[in-house]
Amino acid sequence: MEGPIESDKTVECSGRLILECGCGDRLTLLGLKEDWLSEERTNFECECGQTLTMADRLNEEVLEFSRLMRGAYKVPGS
Ligand SMILES: [Zn+2]
Repeated sequence: MEGPIESDKTVECSGRLILECGCGDRLTLLGLKEDWLSEERTNFECECGQTLTMADRLNEEVLEFSRLMRGAYKVPGS
């Protein structure tokens, strides 16, 4: 499985990560998780100063679900 980095590769709308902070803010990253990992960009800073990682990632289905559930969403590992 080879994955050369193509310089002409464009970021598609489908390549999107959302990290959720404990303060309630969300960071939206454009690109694939693999791209961020390959660049060793795995820590991101929220405006509140909290460091977010890929572990804080939401997928949009969860996001949509949690929006519908309004507080019924449980944070795993807590
Ligand atoms: Zn925050």
